[in-house]
Amino acid sequence: MNTKYPMALLGLLTILGCELLTVVSSNKTEALRIMENAPVIDGHNDLPWQLLSKFNNQLNEVNLHTLNDTHTNIPKLREGRVGGQFWAAYVPCETQGKDAVKRTLEQIDVVHRMCEAYPDTFLCVDTAQDIATAIRAKRVASLIGVEGGHSIDSSLGVLRTFYHLGVRYMTLTHSCNTPWADNWLVDTGSDPAKSNGLSEFGKNIILEMNRLGMMVDLAHVSAKTMKDALEVSKAPVIFSHSSAYKLCASARNVQDDVLRIVKEKKGLVMVNFYNDYVTCSSKANLSNVADHFDYIKNIAGYESVGFGGDYDGVPRVPEGLEDVSKYPDLVAELIRRGWTQVELEAALKDNLLRVFTEVEQTSLQMSSEKPKEVPINYQEIKSDCHTSYGYKLVDTSAAAHLHAAKGLLLMCLVYTLFH
Ligand SMILES: [Zn+2]
Repeated sequence: MNTKYPMALLGLLTILGCELLTVVSSNKTEALRIMENAPVIDGHNDLPWQLLSKFNNQLNEVNLHTLNDTHTNIPKLREGRVGGQFWAAYVPCETQGKDAVKRTLEQIDVVHRMCEAYPDTFLCVDTAQDIATAIRAKRVASLIGVEGGHSIDSSLGVLRTFYHLGVRYMTLTHSCNTPWADNWLVDTGSDPAKSNGLSEFGKNIILEMNRLGMMVDLAHVSAKTMKDALEVSKAPVIFSHSSAYKLCASARNVQDDVLRIVKEKKGLVMVNFYNDYVTCSSKANLSNVADHFDYIKNIAGYESVGFGGDYDGVPRVPEGLEDVSKYPDLVAELIRRGWTQVELEAALKDNLLRVFTEVEQTSLQMSSEKPKEVPINYQEIKSDCHTSYGYKLVDTSAAAHLHAAKGLLLMCLVYTLFH
């Protein structure tokens, strides 16, 4: 047996393998170097939902340093170079028209308490400037996004109150229609269209968000709602956790025509890592996620792409992106694919800061405008769980009785006059 060629081949493979390893590790080193000054600001993390589900929001029962059955804990955030995080104040659609507002307030409260309980790690902030300040102080800038318009129960007053509590984006729907906006399941045929995008009241919600300085989030909405919001909004919008439809034809993802409008309007699509939205199957890996970054960059430009991992909100995550410690591995892969430092810094941090700053500036420009006051039509929210205080309702049964009585009186009058 001639062992000369197999030995040579083995030697060649060893050299190639070593070189590959060296390239991979140097890309990772470069990723960590870039993320030293540009840690990731992620658009969507559902740790607050985990705190509710596992501990009924009792922070005394949990240690975020050692919690290990979630995608997120403090050591993993540090390892992942997470500099900013929008924590989702999410409550399920079944709360709609019931206790959605109360439960959303509780999720906002648990984020505030998380910042108080771990002041060395988290700093709750609500401006673009303070995100940068927190990052310089090596803390995780912590912001709140309300995931689903059902959380405001169709109330402009609740929307404004959420803003005062620090909420800086609202996803217009979760996976259900609100009385004023259609959700993505309309596009799958599972839900009937209700407003054909945004109703007039829904458009007023967008304008009020613009006036307040709250980012409009279009993850989870129907394609028509996306287009309506992009047309109405005076400020750039975000998709806090959505990927590219062309690579995985899920209605949760963003189609090319919308990506082009996002580019034109200088918005931001923060890539979702959930396997089912990355490959449209239960299996996915880090490279599949990098494909979405490449794709969105090619269509909308590097100024319109970001990270929206959806950690702790999904049952499956890709191989290689198992938890929040893995962002640098994804950045290393993007380096391998030729992304420049400027492009990476934009996707990691600068795009979000730019959009948020523009949203703040739009709010300033609208500061002479009065708050929107016209409430939603009562018929849109009428249910056993809603009272009608303030609405001038016509009691149709009382009106009918009055009408009949008037008729009778007239008949009596005619009879008296002519007999
Ligand atoms: Zn979501």
